[in-house]
Amino acid sequence: MNFASKLVQMVKDRFVQHNLKSYSDKLREISALKLESWDDERLQSESLKLKNKAQSGTSLDDILVEAFAIAGEAASRVLGMRPFDVQYMAGTALHERNMVEMQTGEGKTLAAVMPAYLNALQGKGVHILTFNDYLAGRDAEWMGPVYRFLGLSVSYVKEGMSIEERQRAYAADITYVTAKEAGFDYLRDTIALKPEGIVHRPFHFAIVDEADSLLIDEARVPLVIAGEIASTSSDGSRMANLARELKLGEDYDFDENKRNVYLTDTGAEKAEQILRSGNLYETHNSHLLTSLNCALHAESLLKRDVDYMIRDGKLELIDLHTGRVAENRHWPDGLQAAVEAKEGMVSKSSGKILGTITLQHLLSLYPKFSGMTATAQDSAEEFDETYSLNVVQIPPNRPKIRIDHESRIFTHKEARLKALVKEIAEVHATKRPILIGTSSVEESDQLSEQLNKAGVPCHVLNAKNDEKEAEIISKAGELGAVTVSTNMAGRGVDIRLGGGDPQQAEQVAELGGLYVIGTHMNESARIDNQLRGRAGRQGDPGSSRFYVCLEDDLINRFGIEKAIPAAYRTKQQDEPLEASVFSKKMDHIQRVVMGQNFEMRKTLNKYSDMLEEQRRIHQEQREAVLYNDDTMSDTEKYVNLYHMDRLWSDHLAYVSYIRESIHLESLANRNPVDEFHNRIIHAFEQLPDKLEQETAKTLRKIKANGTEEQIDWEKEGLKAPSRTWTYLIQDQFIEKKANIFGL
Ligand code: ADP
Repeated sequence: MNFASKLVQMVKDRFVQHNLKSYSDKLREISALKLESWDDERLQSESLKLKNKAQSGTSLDDILVEAFAIAGEAASRVLGMRPFDVQYMAGTALHERNMVEMQTGEGKTLAAVMPAYLNALQGKGVHILTFNDYLAGRDAEWMGPVYRFLGLSVSYVKEGMSIEERQRAYAADITYVTAKEAGFDYLRDTIALKPEGIVHRPFHFAIVDEADSLLIDEARVPLVIAGEIASTSSDGSRMANLARELKLGEDYDFDENKRNVYLTDTGAEKAEQILRSGNLYETHNSHLLTSLNCALHAESLLKRDVDYMIRDGKLELIDLHTGRVAENRHWPDGLQAAVEAKEGMVSKSSGKILGTITLQHLLSLYPKFSGMTATAQDSAEEFDETYSLNVVQIPPNRPKIRIDHESRIFTHKEARLKALVKEIAEVHATKRPILIGTSSVEESDQLSEQLNKAGVPCHVLNAKNDEKEAEIISKAGELGAVTVSTNMAGRGVDIRLGGGDPQQAEQVAELGGLYVIGTHMNESARIDNQLRGRAGRQGDPGSSRFYVCLEDDLINRFGIEKAIPAAYRTKQQDEPLEASVFSKKMDHIQRVVMGQNFEMRKTLNKYSDMLEEQRRIHQEQREAVLYNDDTMSDTEKYVNLYHMDRLWSDHLAYVSYIRESIHLESLANRNPVDEFHNRIIHAFEQLPDKLEQETAKTLRKIKANGTEEQIDWEKEGLKAPSRTWTYLIQDQFIEKKANIFGL
């Protein structure tokens, strides 16, 4: 480290220490209480007293010190884990609505117990939002005894539970659940026809685990609830055939980043002839143009085993951020059908969208929430601007000694692959365990093939074998282990040296600990750090190195002509480039691209925020009807709710139709966001009149038929969807589009 960077580090450290002062002050007060001498009964009766205080209006801040000390003491008695000082500090920061950065393996699960306990004392429910179902169950079982010992109830929610089970789970003082499951439950609640069908209580406080994945990477993913309707006809296979007939470069082309596809004049003419449609750009043909674009997109830009795969006859999307199967995920409407048609599958995505909310908006329904993750600082500005959350960096319990080496930079991919195989084989010969993070399923397969050829056996962890994840990770720190993985984001289990065997752990430590290799630089430094952070947990030795190449997407995205001097662009060499010149440049490129992504997300939010605003108004009006006991009959209520839901669902379909084509407005020099707002505001304003008319019409008809007493809703044509299902939309498609059109 040179003098200048030492100085920067010192200033940073000072800043962190300054920020932590209030937490260390609290820590001193907590430690001063010394509850070891209290017997169990005393601890439990004091907990009850705190609960009474909290519920009779004493502020939580006033009882924080006592509550944390009690919870910490309970944890050490019940679990045999006495919280470390840094865990009390993290807990305090979580209570005070911060984004807590704490390294992997430092014990976030226990740190969350203190603020969860404190906030649960008010009796209004606390949610701990975990990254997946498995962790919800594991953490609830693991930490449950602490809360129960102190007189609070704990539960968790998982897929497949009945409404009654969910109601019981959410009635508990502390509920462990994934944000997605909590969100799907929320959406189901928004179409409940009777108050008895509702599972959530009003939201109170949430602690989000792996918060950067949820609050940044997945924040704009819309959760969807859809209902059965008569199946709609689709011209998917016709378009898929047409897309196959059209020629790339002649009939259609990509933009420079290969993120979007468009028809050329020749292509449009050819398509018009085949479809016998007349001018495709006439308004009445817009549905044909949209589905042809989707078909071309599916044909040429979405690749099997990179973007999706087919398993047991099912189309499964691969999440670009995590490289694993994105459970229960769809692309936006037309694109999903187009990929299914491309693969010759019968479309399963018919149905009508009844409600939708993004994860970001779901979180904002909580009056208070905070988050924890190993990687927050790189996105501090985004946490602050989007969620008003400050990042608090908690120092590790034991100092970090991991060495992060300077990246090796290659001119072309073959040279990098060769160098990677050589490096891995050499290090593997010493038996030091190696973890390699790759960018896609395809790349991980390719690398493992090359390694096998070179006589290096390895385990592959990608979307194709997700189910073996826990087992593969538990062995990744063993002597001689080589693990090739797609993106490590959200892979929530930490890697222990020697796989947990203390003797082997020592041997591995002598070899330098876990060696982490990244085969590319991500668009976000945060994701790179997630990978690095797999080495050097809890003060273990370890090191990391990235292998970058001038042909990587990140550099294409930035623009190679801006990134690299002309002399290097044409020349190809097997040896890495002079690292020090380029690694600074790489950091710069990454910072610029992160900034661009943040800007783009802000713009995308402008689209979804307006719809969310409308959703909340709609929901308030709906609740006023649902809970109306004093002025409406049951029939009136049902008819009102039925029409409200139907009109809302039509509105959503209209909004998504507008959203798909709004980028064209920029070609006519109009601001797409403004146009989008104008149109959906106009449509929303018409809803109350429509509702009144439709409801009055139905009620008149029922009255005229004299069927008010026993109404068969199906006969009346007013049956609510008999079956609903939920899924997530892969919004990366929209993000790509936004990139092109500078939306
Ligand atoms: P993180 O989520 O931060 O990666 P975990 O909550 O999974 O970390 O904890 C990592 C490991 O550290 C676990 O095996 C846990 O048992 C251990 N651990 C955490 N806190 C303590 C503590 N206060 N005392 C002893 N062990 C602890």
